[in-house]
Amino acid sequence: MKKWIVLLALTSAAAWAHDDEHHEHGPHQHGVATLDVAFDKGELALDFASPADNVLGFEHAPKTDAERKKIDQMTKTLSLATNLFVPEAAAGCKTSPVKVAAPDWSTGAHVDIDADYSFKCQRAPASIALPLWKQYPNIRELVVNIATDKGQRQLRLKPGQTLNLR
Ligand SMILES: [Zn+2]
Repeated sequence: MKKWIVLLALTSAAAWAHDDEHHEHGPHQHGVATLDVAFDKGELALDFASPADNVLGFEHAPKTDAERKKIDQMTKTLSLATNLFVPEAAAGCKTSPVKVAAPDWSTGAHVDIDADYSFKCQRAPASIALPLWKQYPNIRELVVNIATDKGQRQLRLKPGQTLNLR
């Protein structure tokens, strides 16, 4: 009987820890990724976050060569913003490759991938095309949080859609 109680306590403690973690980054839901968009003084910032499952197909430290190869490919793809996000040409946005950190496998059962990009633009882009959908078909929804001088809003995009910032 005693054993049962201890087990129960452990289980709920783990559930709490998990919940806490998720409050920081929003819910980690497989199939859903988030993009924070900010435009200020000619700089477009795109912060992309996704469950590793969406972009790798697994969420554990790599065990095989095939899994290690997938991680290499992912960091290569993510290191160039325009593999995922292409601002309309008329805005004259330029970006340079970023360094993408390997996932932190120590955090437990669920692992997020984060990639932060910045573009210098001649003017605010009206739209951003999303090759992201072709790159990662496991992403079924992109939650976009937009912050500009006009305020903040949230959009939920489905595969194939373009991000419209107007
Ligand atoms: Zn997960």
